[in-house]
Amino acid sequence: MKENKKALCPECDEFTIPEIIEKEEKVIIRKEEFKVKVKRAICTNCHAEFGLSEYGFDEKQIAYDLYRKKHNYLFPDDIKRIREKYGLRQKPFSRLLGFGEITIHLYEKGALPDETHMEMLKLAENPENIKKIYEDNKEAISDSDRQIFENNLQKLLDEKKKNKLREIIIALFDYEPDIYSGYKKFNLDYFTNFIKLLLKFKSPLYKTHLVKICCYLDFLKFKNDGCSFTGCRYVVGPYGPFLDQYDKLFCYLKDRNAVETVIDFKNNAEYFNFTEEPDISLFSEKDMKLIREVTEKLGNLTPGELSNKTHKEFPDWNEKIIGQYISFEDAKYLKL
Ligand SMILES: [Zn+2]
Repeated sequence: MKENKKALCPECDEFTIPEIIEKEEKVIIRKEEFKVKVKRAICTNCHAEFGLSEYGFDEKQIAYDLYRKKHNYLFPDDIKRIREKYGLRQKPFSRLLGFGEITIHLYEKGALPDETHMEMLKLAENPENIKKIYEDNKEAISDSDRQIFENNLQKLLDEKKKNKLREIIIALFDYEPDIYSGYKKFNLDYFTNFIKLLLKFKSPLYKTHLVKICCYLDFLKFKNDGCSFTGCRYVVGPYGPFLDQYDKLFCYLKDRNAVETVIDFKNNAEYFNFTEEPDISLFSEKDMKLIREVTEKLGNLTPGELSNKTHKEFPDWNEKIIGQYISFEDAKYLKL
């Protein structure tokens, strides 16, 4: 409440601007004692002390919040968020979980769920769990609610799959920067924008071109500045260097619609199209210039010319062992 707002004193029935004090009080929630800092008003007329609940100050809710924190409970806003992500109104969501009709409404308003209900709500947060609950209990909600729920659930499950791939990639690329990654820490969001930027300068690009341009750019950047663009590692392949784990990276980019791919059946190849603007704030003007030059130049070569170029510029290519990481020390031999 506003500190200088007038309040009606229940003792002397006078409207005064009370003095506000803070004090600690014990509140019992389910046989547990919580110390709650409460605000009290002292009437300046008769010095009586009174509560401020009519001004939105609710000490029971504060104690509930302490209880929620202590027992790792979801908060009313969490419950609302979970319900809304499945697109259900309060009543059908209640019924789906096997609660009473208005139970979710009460929980979202601040009532404290019992332990069994709380466990159920926590389970329901995970789309895979609620899918099982739904399969056992879909009769509890109407046809139209089922439709809405199933659509939202599918979207969430798809999203989860994408996130899983993201987690896998982040784990795979969680190595310490060294001479095999151009002394740069890999960052998936930066990499995504890097690929978008390449495709902005030259699109479509064959997959082999895209992989080799990445490699060239990382090595050139290392040669100029002592660290690569992306932190990716490159592997000795039979047809030149290739980007380590590129299949997972490209799968991720496709899932996110950061790129669009088309299969070229005539040439038995896959090419990539520009779909989304990169966040160019991640790149300096000097970097953008280098990326544009290399992408346009190499992007115009035929696959044969490109393969030749990468073979020739990396020293002792034929003596390298297939499958090994390429050291960025080789960057000093690159020309362009
Ligand atoms: Zn008074």
